[in-house]
Amino acid sequence: MREKLSQRFHGHRTNSSINIGINVEKPKESCRDNKCPFHGSLKIRGRSFSGLVVTTDLHKSVTVEWERKFFIAKYERYEKRRSRVRAHNPSCINAKEGDLVTIHECRPLSKTKHFVIIEKTGKDTLFKLKKEFREEAKVTESTIGQLSTPPQKIQAEKKKVERGE
Ligand SMILES: [Zn+2]
Repeated sequence: MREKLSQRFHGHRTNSSINIGINVEKPKESCRDNKCPFHGSLKIRGRSFSGLVVTTDLHKSVTVEWERKFFIAKYERYEKRRSRVRAHNPSCINAKEGDLVTIHECRPLSKTKHFVIIEKTGKDTLFKLKKEFREEAKVTESTIGQLSTPPQKIQAEKKKVERGE
């Protein structure tokens, strides 16, 4: 009875998934997320991109990043630029950091979200390592910035103290 009521009020189809009109692999799991293109009432239209999930957070949101080439006429060469887009992460897809995903445009879901993940296409296995390296680089930079005297000077001072000067 409960199922039937929720179907009537939210247009949910709890077991079968809707054909979203794009040839992608349907998620194996089912969900009760109304903002899911497969199991909810969300319709997709517009542009589609594929990229890497760089951050995930609460409220089923992710940040997807991808690289593009930007042509500079003066130098007749390309430079790398990065695009970052916030996207909805339905619970049946449940993408994690380091996943390669395809996102598709939809109606505005919040102030910054107007894309939804429609498919997981793979995994960047080195993502965690890369992230750790970046964090380490940040830490060393910030600690050096905090020190008023450079590390070499501190070492020299210590030696002086040891010698009893
Ligand atoms: Zn779903």
